[in-house]
Amino acid sequence: MQQARILISGGGIGGLTSAIALRQRGFSVTIAERDPEWSVYGVGIIQQANVVRAIASLGLLDAYVASAYPFDRIEMFAPDGTQVASIPSPRLAGGDYPAQLGISRPALQRVLADAARSAGTEIRLGASVERFEDDGDGVGVRFTDGTCERFDLLVGADGLYSQTRAAIFPDAPGPAFTGQSVWRYNLPRPAEVECLQAYTGRVGLGLVPLSADTMYMFVTSPEPGNPHVPVEGRAAAMRQRLAGVAPRIAALAEQITDDRAVVYKPLEALYLEGPWHKGRVVLIGDAVHGTTPHLGQGAGMAIEDSIVLADELARHAPEPAFAAYQARREGRCRFIVESSVAVGEFQLGRRDTLDYPALTREMFERTAKPV
Ligand SMILES: Cc1cc2nc3c(=O)[nH]c(=O)nc-3n(C[C@H](O)[C@H](O)[C@H](O)COP(=O)(O)OP(=O)(O)OC[C@H]3O[C@@H](n4cnc5c(N)ncnc54)[C@H](O)[C@@H]3O)c2cc1C
Repeated sequence: MQQARILISGGGIGGLTSAIALRQRGFSVTIAERDPEWSVYGVGIIQQANVVRAIASLGLLDAYVASAYPFDRIEMFAPDGTQVASIPSPRLAGGDYPAQLGISRPALQRVLADAARSAGTEIRLGASVERFEDDGDGVGVRFTDGTCERFDLLVGADGLYSQTRAAIFPDAPGPAFTGQSVWRYNLPRPAEVECLQAYTGRVGLGLVPLSADTMYMFVTSPEPGNPHVPVEGRAAAMRQRLAGVAPRIAALAEQITDDRAVVYKPLEALYLEGPWHKGRVVLIGDAVHGTTPHLGQGAGMAIEDSIVLADELARHAPEPAFAAYQARREGRCRFIVESSVAVGEFQLGRRDTLDYPALTREMFERTAKPV
């Protein structure tokens, strides 16, 4: 199967990492990415220990770590600002590399896109699959620019609102709004923010270092009915969501002044029950298990999916490979989605208790196991 031509729909984190992993195993790979600008939010992303290990297995660790802020623990705080836990995370990529890191999304995309290109991936920007037909021997694809082409396999890495998922499983439920939204803002990094610092109360809140100079703050808030939030006034609205927080956070919140720099996102989740594949088409990442960010693992799951999928395709024919890929991934991905949603439920007051530090420790233990 190594000579197979594979089309990946979606050039996000999952699409790029699967392209790299598949190229490394000798497959011919094309990415079709809908967005002609290939834009990503300017804020950052947390990469946990298992993700650093996954990036190591793709051979990208040096460029990745050089673009990031490394750390080895998560500090947790009560709502009044008292530190309640410091949870060490394992160095899964070897003693010379950090356990975890914070990285800006544009920097992560740069590292992955450079690697995908130099591995020989064909990347088509502004290209989408209009429709496809799997005839058992291959997948005939018609693109939105009217061109038609034939591939051996199609990987749907097209995110939470995956059109590939809708095409193969038209009756599958789509993502559901959880009742919360997240507000993010880049700020200068104070010297004492040397790792992810998260707050355990009903207001979900955290600081993530991204570089020597920069960090971002996130806050999750209840947003009943998922209202439209105009750009104008977002800075004041984010500050208002931070009313009553610990004094050091309140002091930082005064620097949230630029409406256009606030990145606002309603939180949605999805876990696809049943198969993640049909015939010669398979789904990865948010297309099958879109999670809320409460455990900082959504992209991590997409990256691990990529490695496992490539590994199985190098060993088996497509359908057994897809089944083996799903069998290796579903328990971990379900745990991440359900646990992340549970944190949000607690923050929304729909659960009486939740031991966030204990859940974080469990997340580290489970995800430290091999993929
Ligand atoms: C607020 C927030 C914070 C988060 N923070 C973290 C974090 O700290 N750590 C972490 O690990 N995860 C985090 N995540 C989760 C993470 O962003 C996602 O899990 C990850 O981006 C999923 O990657 P993906 O490639 O599956 O999908 P996406 O990143 O959504 O990429 C899908 C790509 O497909 C393209 N596309 C869509 N439709 C089509 C189409 N029809 N044709 C062609 N292309 C198409 C899109 O333009 C996009 O480029 C967070 C998520 C949110 C919402």
